[in-house]
Amino acid sequence: AHLDRIAAVDAAVGAFLDVDAERALADADAADAARRSGEEVAELAGVPVAVKDLFVTRGQATTAASRMLEGWIPPYDATAVANLRAARTPILGKTNLDEFAMGGSTEHSAFKRTANPWDLERIPGGSSGGSAAAVGSYQAPLALGTDTGGSIRQPAAVTGTVGVKPTYGTVSRYGVIAMASSLDTPGPMARTVLDTALLHDVIASYDPLDSTSLADAPRGMAQVVRQAQAGRDLTGLRVGVIAELDGGPGYHDGVVSSFHAALELLSSAGASVETVSLPHLEYALDAYYLIMPAEASSNLARYDGVRYGLRVEPASGPVTAETVMAATRGAGFGDEVKRRIILGTHVLSAGYYDAYYGSALKVRTLIQRDFAAAWQGFDVLVSPTAPVTAYRFGEKDDPLAMYKLDVTTIPANLAGVPGMSLPSGLSDDGLPVGFQILAPQRADDRLYRVGAVLEA
Ligand code: GLN
Repeated sequence: AHLDRIAAVDAAVGAFLDVDAERALADADAADAARRSGEEVAELAGVPVAVKDLFVTRGQATTAASRMLEGWIPPYDATAVANLRAARTPILGKTNLDEFAMGGSTEHSAFKRTANPWDLERIPGGSSGGSAAAVGSYQAPLALGTDTGGSIRQPAAVTGTVGVKPTYGTVSRYGVIAMASSLDTPGPMARTVLDTALLHDVIASYDPLDSTSLADAPRGMAQVVRQAQAGRDLTGLRVGVIAELDGGPGYHDGVVSSFHAALELLSSAGASVETVSLPHLEYALDAYYLIMPAEASSNLARYDGVRYGLRVEPASGPVTAETVMAATRGAGFGDEVKRRIILGTHVLSAGYYDAYYGSALKVRTLIQRDFAAAWQGFDVLVSPTAPVTAYRFGEKDDPLAMYKLDVTTIPANLAGVPGMSLPSGLSDDGLPVGFQILAPQRADDRLYRVGAVLEA
């Protein structure tokens, strides 16, 4: 049914870069056969998943939406993908994204444009925009995304779907093409909190192949959701509304009023709702846009025209390692990626390292301390997921204008804490609004508990 839906609507939506219908059908049949033969199979066995094209998939092209990796067929699976295969969830296809996950609109893909299912002239968010659009247009019930600065939560918000950035280290980064390693967090996307939890439980695993994988990450999120759905009670829960992210210049009125209506629902379920200040969030964007490019510039140094991927020889002059690298990287990377590599190498350079990169790391510590202080008085923190609803293609051509919209999602990545975005209804422009819930590290269960009650 999902393959039929893809055939019917993806020409208009553009969520997928590659669909392997034959393999998906064979895997679905195998899951069916296993279930019928009495084999003990996972709850999600046979339920198909769309996978952001940043996860490497054995035998299926993986591009990171970049010319640099066009035509590359990985010889192995990312651990999260291996976990899907072990649970017998067929992979429908690979979804579009901003090149190397750099962006918030999926307009920076080297290959195609992905539309928002709510309005085909608008962006689906990004960088996991293909996954969000696939789920939002019923082409897939479940999808994998990655969140370095909001790339799961923000596309979920603007497509009216649910997305979770788990605690950093919960889902393995092994086989997820690296953007900024200290921030990159793979996670689940779906249309309901329960579906998101079920996928969370499949992809979360301790992985010795990822040196930052947590051995004791929380599990059993689906159980948490089912319990919360049965009780629908948040008595005693202390909810902190982040003062710095509660509206102001740059926020749509309809987003803020939807957010406040959801706060009423929390109160009526028994939670106490108070405002809390995290004063250093004022500097979160600046810190992120120094740390992220610094790490990305280092990670992307591997695309040298030699080891794998694109190779371009210089049009004239000698063929040396340097000239091949320059020609390859000049042709293979898009503008946004080049912008960030240049910024990253600049802030890491000998003369500027302390002033920029060093300062940004100090700010990151101050933000982590703000969160630690807030957890003394609150169980969860909340804000709108994004300050605005889905904008029209081309509306944020100025890179800074796009970066500024990440103000609401970036703090969680700098602090390594888990976050969920779930729909809180429509704005006055008729477009979906996302409600963001944040919890302390390893307390992902609180996101699911609060999300399940809010959704009900
Ligand atoms: N929009 C943010 C950026 O452009 C976040 C990207 C991400 O989370 N991958 O960096």
